[in-house]
Amino acid sequence: MKHLRKCSVCFKYTLNQTHCSAATVTAHPPKYSIEDKYSEYRRRAKGL
Ligand SMILES: [Zn+2]
Repeated sequence: MKHLRKCSVCFKYTLNQTHCSAATVTAHPPKYSIEDKYSEYRRRAKGL
């Protein structure tokens, strides 16, 4: 199963590693939710 990727130049969805002569990025970044939880934890720690 291939992961859906997105071109950072024309913003079209593709399955290729490159598009428009540039590297594509994953359509759903897996680190996003983790970073969000981590930033919330740091904010609480700083509040104390
Ligand atoms: Zn493109």
